[in-house]
Amino acid sequence: MDLQRVGVIGVGHLGQHHARLYTELLGTQLVGVVDENEARAAAIGDNLGVPYYTNFEEFIKKARPDAVSVVVPTSLHYEIAKKALENGIHVLIEKPVTTTVREAEDLLNVAAKRDLVLQVGHVERFNSAVQYTSKIVHEPLFLQSRRLGPFSSRISDVGVVLDLMIHDIDIILSLVHSEIDSISATGRCIRTNHEDVASAQISFKNGAMAHILVSRVSERRLRQLEIMEPERYLTINYETQDVSINRCVRHENGTLVEVIEHPVFPKSEPLKLELQHFVTCVREGKQPLVGIMDGKRALEVAISVLKQIHLSEGKEESIISQ
Ligand code: NAD
Repeated sequence: MDLQRVGVIGVGHLGQHHARLYTELLGTQLVGVVDENEARAAAIGDNLGVPYYTNFEEFIKKARPDAVSVVVPTSLHYEIAKKALENGIHVLIEKPVTTTVREAEDLLNVAAKRDLVLQVGHVERFNSAVQYTSKIVHEPLFLQSRRLGPFSSRISDVGVVLDLMIHDIDIILSLVHSEIDSISATGRCIRTNHEDVASAQISFKNGAMAHILVSRVSERRLRQLEIMEPERYLTINYETQDVSINRCVRHENGTLVEVIEHPVFPKSEPLKLELQHFVTCVREGKQPLVGIMDGKRALEVAISVLKQIHLSEGKEESIISQ
């Protein structure tokens, strides 16, 4: 089997894990890491025993990668992913895919013209609890998602909608098979110039409803999705990858008894499964589970949420710091 030659562009907080995991995947050879911060590039490259670069073009010329992960700050996704695709390189681009829908459409066209894999890093889709749930949930009526955590100054170029809520938007869109009817949202800036807490309500044309609450200024850490179906209630804990299913069963004597199931299924590191899926799609020429259309749809909804927040604040504001 030919090894897939892969590289990672941007080896900061998340990119270092892409690079580490590529060295662990069968059939994959990490041929280099790129970071404009030379000390960072050197630290990760030396640690993993691979060449490091500070210049993307030089990396392409010397390392000849088949595929790359683009893990630079969101505002640079488009420029770097486009350059990679134009050089015939398959791309896994971190979420949020781009900062505008037009940029996502442009990447879609470039990838399609060249028949390249363009996967978007909505890693929660590879969470074992989500994979289990998506096979058994058929008729969600109401979904409630909460993703809360303490403040970190690390992500400052986007607000909590593009940073965190986009994960929940993507999962909800993958579970509810219906067009969106309406979106309402509110949010507030607390520690940064972007919204640090946000709440969105999405109504679907088939009658399903979703409520999403996200915060990056909450001392309580919680990553949970609850799904109500006609005869049961499911709870996903994203962090422990556990699922519980509650339903009521009528006893022979007529009383209602609540039954709680804790299904058992294999668990794995979601990012590792995501990268394995990407290199498999590249090798076999398959469409990825989370392609650019999904990334674009989640981005469209996130932008609608942001517009609602800015309307409720009575101001027009850029969604991203330049
Ligand atoms: P980070 O700031 O820690 O890392 C970004 C790295 O990119 C830095 O080391 C920086 O020096 C480097 N860089 C900047 N410009 C560059 C350029 N032109 N060429 C090469 N390297 C360059 O950020 P992060 O937290 O790792 O986030 C990176 C991306 O990953 C963001 O888009 C973020 O939204 C996304 N992300 C996704 C998840 C997820 O759950 N899927 C989690 C965290 C971050």
